[in-house]
Amino acid sequence: MRVLGIEGTAWAASAAVYDEDADSVFIETDAYQPDSGGIHPREAAEHMSDAVPEVVETALAEADGDIDAVSFSRGPGLGPCLRTVGTAARALAQTLDVPLVGVNHMVAHLEIGRQQSGFDSPVCLNASGANAHVLGYRNGRYRVLGETMDTGVGNAIDKFTRHVGWSHPGGPKVEEAAKDGEYVELPYVVKGMDFSFSGIMSAAKDAYDDGTPVEDVCYSLQENVFAMLTEVAERALSLTGSDELVLGGGVGQNARLREMLGEMCDQRGASFHAPEPRFLRDNAGMIAVLGAEMARAGDTISVEESAVDPDFRPDQVDVTWRSDEES
Ligand code: ATP
Repeated sequence: MRVLGIEGTAWAASAAVYDEDADSVFIETDAYQPDSGGIHPREAAEHMSDAVPEVVETALAEADGDIDAVSFSRGPGLGPCLRTVGTAARALAQTLDVPLVGVNHMVAHLEIGRQQSGFDSPVCLNASGANAHVLGYRNGRYRVLGETMDTGVGNAIDKFTRHVGWSHPGGPKVEEAAKDGEYVELPYVVKGMDFSFSGIMSAAKDAYDDGTPVEDVCYSLQENVFAMLTEVAERALSLTGSDELVLGGGVGQNARLREMLGEMCDQRGASFHAPEPRFLRDNAGMIAVLGAEMARAGDTISVEESAVDPDFRPDQVDVTWRSDEES
């Protein structure tokens, strides 16, 4: 099977071709870079309409043969971006006369790691810009075991860096600055299986305004935020009895987060898998790969049913592509 995937939930106008027989994924991405501040939904949607035709054309030119299905991100994400990409996907599926597959973006973030790792039933940590979830599979669905009570983890980091005057995205800049930092006290908020990032983000801004060296704030922000994610991931492993953890989402590109999760897994004899960076940040490759699984399971949608959903939660998805023995 050969599937064209299209991603466009926020910043990445991305198209990919997954060729199952060749076991290859070609990804072409054009990133939206705000002139100032964070992601502006209208500008991001304009970027989608400008960039999607080109990335799709490039991906199709790389495809070695006919396309068997078109998959796209139905949500969650920014409504104006999703609608633009949904329109492109519907038009392409109709033009190519192939089935249309509507993919949940957060499930795609975790499925790419599960499939690459070969793990049976891992706990999944999605640490992305607009989200933060810990998930586990049970009886046909990915259950949300823990999640952010307020802002997404990457968005919290980006809000701090905007305050400091650094350009978007802030995560890589915090990672770099943290290398020269020392620990200062910042809030650490885990409530049961959920975490909160808005308090630590405000405290980090205050510490910076009060003259704490920015390197120290970055170091401490990373240490606390990633320890919160690691604590909940560990509790989820313990409660589910799983000994496998996979990481998904753009914040997963951070080496310190991967180090903390890897050490925690080592200490409890669990296995840990983090996909390569091109599959962690938003990308159409994960949409094409899950799209192929869904198409094979017959989980396709008609154009009439294919409305996008900016609030599409991962636990709303019926997992049609895994057999029950894996629950
Ligand atoms: P979602 O997948 O929830 O829709 P998103 O669309 O914002 O999120 P992602 O590509 O998953 O996209 O994640 C982007 C986020 O990752 C940004 O907030 C960015 O600052 C953060 N990020 C990127 N690289 C790093 C890094 N090295 N360390 C920490 N955060 C990072």
